[in-house]
Amino acid sequence: MIFLYLLAILMTQYIYYDLPINQIIYIAENHGIRIFNTYTENTRLLGYYSKKHRRIIMYNMPQYTYQYTDTNEETLKHELVHAIQHCKGNYTDYVLVTDDNKIKDCILNKKIDKQFIDFYSPKKLRVFEYEAYCLENQVSYKFLGEQIEKYCK
Ligand SMILES: [Zn+2]
Repeated sequence: MIFLYLLAILMTQYIYYDLPINQIIYIAENHGIRIFNTYTENTRLLGYYSKKHRRIIMYNMPQYTYQYTDTNEETLKHELVHAIQHCKGNYTDYVLVTDDNKIKDCILNKKIDKQFIDFYSPKKLRVFEYEAYCLENQVSYKFLGEQIEKYCK
């Protein structure tokens, strides 16, 4: 019995896989979210989501290769969360992708830097920044892809 249990755990670890990065980009673009890379010395931002253009701009990825690294994959996830918040808000407002409990957990357990977020973001946008920072290193591309397919027409 224990053997079967261990075998089941082992199998789910092999079967489970996240979407490759080119596939999440493909899904996003197929749902109207455009993703650009640009190099500039005029910003300290890592990424930006434009509601007006439904577009994600990724700043200063390794200059010549435009390769994704762990850091900018977190940025991409962060900006995709904003894009999904925007889809859920019918392209006018932002609506949370998850729920308050997830955000409370991130704040209480210091998984996000609330002071930093409060410092730079306008009051009415803070909760959406909390969520994007909260989710950026916790969610898979698979999860984000499902949310995009559900909410982004
Ligand atoms: Zn953000």
